[in-house]
Amino acid sequence: MNRKSFLKKVGTGAVGLTTFQSIPFQRAKALQSPPWSSQNYAWVSNHKGTDDELRVRLELMKNAGLDGILPSSQYEKWVQLAEEFELDVHAWFITLQRSSDEPLIRKHPDWFMVNRNGESSVTFPAYVDYYKWLCPTRPEAQEYILNKVDEILKISEIKSVHLDYIRYPDVILPIQLQPGYGVVQDKEYPQYDYCFCDACRRKYQTLYGDDPILLDNPTKDDTFSQFRYNQVTHLVNQVAMRVHNQGVKLTAAVFPTPEIARSLVRQNWPDWNLDAVFPMQYNHFYHKPVRWIGQAVAEGRRELPATTEMFSGLYVPEMTPIEVSQAYEFGMENGANGICLFSDHSMTEEHWAYLSRVMQKG
Ligand SMILES: [Zn+2]
Repeated sequence: MNRKSFLKKVGTGAVGLTTFQSIPFQRAKALQSPPWSSQNYAWVSNHKGTDDELRVRLELMKNAGLDGILPSSQYEKWVQLAEEFELDVHAWFITLQRSSDEPLIRKHPDWFMVNRNGESSVTFPAYVDYYKWLCPTRPEAQEYILNKVDEILKISEIKSVHLDYIRYPDVILPIQLQPGYGVVQDKEYPQYDYCFCDACRRKYQTLYGDDPILLDNPTKDDTFSQFRYNQVTHLVNQVAMRVHNQGVKLTAAVFPTPEIARSLVRQNWPDWNLDAVFPMQYNHFYHKPVRWIGQAVAEGRRELPATTEMFSGLYVPEMTPIEVSQAYEFGMENGANGICLFSDHSMTEEHWAYLSRVMQKG
């Protein structure tokens, strides 16, 4: 039987034959063009080095497929250098945790948060010396933050103001971090529970008639929880108006899921007027496998408006190269718009190789 008559003979079986032949071809094609279109970033916390050394890092990020960086300081310098590599720059701004702001601490210690024992975070910081937190309830403190944001907005090339430490101190630390600080937090303890400053107590009393420090069970009081979420949300939304008026975006680094954010740090980020959210989905901090990152993304997606982009924050120092690439895929499968690496400096050559393979644009 020649080839022609064989084909004729199989007749109706031809569909099966075609399918059989084309599967390997389609699979090969799928591998060549990844299914996701993503944007990807890195937080930049290390600013050491000559301009040329910084260029080497930027080039590495660009070549791996990143779209932008989020430096924690020296914004103007990074804008200038990043422009050469067509990378966007987002200004990473440490918002309420203001330990490095010595003039402010000296001049207005009364603007800082106070715990349920009545101790100021300036004189009795929780966990570490730098846990000195401005209280978002005080109008003077809000104005202070808005002025800081105005300073950032003077740099016109900034794509977004990126809020970080925009929350209360951890009333409960992520489980992995507790032994390091010598604490066992099986419930909320008063020394880690903020804020009971005069301004918060007065405002709560005006709104609800009670002094929150006298509540029977402040840790289980829904009204008081909601009050605290609202203090941060109100500040964020004020910043959003200021930033959006200048045509700049507002983004934020937040705790990994809405539920964890609310319970550990009183951060109700799905309510915030953000353009994009960067949940720090640091799986090891919560004793979770890398697969959990997909679940965390899905939980965030369920509460977020569809218009808010989400970039999954990855804690690279505790991830193997293959885990970083898996995290990207778990995130994208569940509705992330991309990832953000903490930080570019922790990425080895192997990390970049694995990651760039999965995130190449289709
Ligand atoms: Zn307060």
